[in-house]
Amino acid sequence: MNVEATDGRKFLGWLSLGSDLLASLEQICESQKIKLGEVRAIGAVGHARLAHYDQIGQKYKYIDLRKPLNILSLMGNISLQNGKPYIHAHLILGDDQGQVIGGHLAPGTSVFVCEYVIQEYLTAEPLVGQKDQATGLYFWPGKQF
Ligand code: ZN
Repeated sequence: MNVEATDGRKFLGWLSLGSDLLASLEQICESQKIKLGEVRAIGAVGHARLAHYDQIGQKYKYIDLRKPLNILSLMGNISLQNGKPYIHAHLILGDDQGQVIGGHLAPGTSVFVCEYVIQEYLTAEPLVGQKDQATGLYFWPGKQF
């Protein structure tokens, strides 16, 4: 599936200490009525909750990192799921030794500081995230049926 989109609005900002990284980014999308787009960010977290998708069991395994880490790179897609903006983001985190770990961003990651850029995309038809039967995962963007 290939969809043509044009650039919409762009939002730049930062998240406050102690906020939930994923929920805060989704709240911005909801308040700005962003239905499709992409997000990137850098910063640091007090602790992180990542997930790794078990391809056989088709469910997420969670990884809790209870220490301060830098957000070296966060990249994500924004689409609609159940009528609300949904962010599918992956991030790479670095520790005080420069070691990195990464995964799928899960709820429960606490912001220390975070600078983000959100790019909205516009399409001729409304698009929503769609569950793929083969993998059990939602892909963006899918046509609304
Ligand atoms: Zn993922």
